[in-house]
Amino acid sequence: MKHLFVANWKMNLPFNEAIDFCQQHATALAELCLTKECELVLCPSFEALHTVATILQKTQIAVGAQDVSRHATGAYTGEVSATSLAQAGCSYCIIGHSERRHYYQERTIDIEHKLKECIKNGITPIICIGETEQERNEGNTLDILNEQLIPLLQTIAQQDNAMPYVVAYEPVWAIGTGVVPTPEALNEVFKWLHTTCNTETGSSFRLLYGGGVDEKSAHGLRHISHLNGFLIGGASTSFERLKKVVQYD
Ligand code: PEP
Repeated sequence: MKHLFVANWKMNLPFNEAIDFCQQHATALAELCLTKECELVLCPSFEALHTVATILQKTQIAVGAQDVSRHATGAYTGEVSATSLAQAGCSYCIIGHSERRHYYQERTIDIEHKLKECIKNGITPIICIGETEQERNEGNTLDILNEQLIPLLQTIAQQDNAMPYVVAYEPVWAIGTGVVPTPEALNEVFKWLHTTCNTETGSSFRLLYGGGVDEKSAHGLRHISHLNGFLIGGASTSFERLKKVVQYD
């Protein structure tokens, strides 16, 4: 299975910078992905999706959104539907990111609706899950992941067509900090994720790690079992740093 690298630009690259990044670096990144036999998804903010998708059209690099509306259509000011995302050229969408859960009080039920909208529109969901520092310190990591993930896996299992999906394990305390969990802790989580996704769904899936991944930490994560790639925040806004993460092994 090809490794997957997802660049979550968050609100860090405004429209002009996102377009410049793609115009300057898409060819080099696409060549790197061919050489490494891996896949790359760039996730700009909504307004840049269509232009980025147009620039990347002739490459193997995919485009992803950072969020989607839980509604299909209607009077929801400021929302963007999964249908629009698909029409703009998105083939992936991040859902349940901890920043959405924290700043916008997204609950599992909201994320379930977003997941259904992605599936209906042929968009591969990148489901983010992760525990807070307190939950980790209390020894509750797997319980929290179970609570966040199982309803979503059941939604996937109920679909008529087996749809590929991605799960990104992103401990909240690791995001933006440069600190990553120990290999022992990650091996335990990824073993659990692998078994759980296999047990709950018949669809193909890839498991990513996200949180503090950069050109330094990525190399140390290469021996984690069942790890199929990374979700990269801060380091993905720099071409040089992103390139080094893709070359991590
Ligand atoms: C993220 O927020 O999805 C993320 C992975 O951030 P960072 O790489 O900056 O920790």
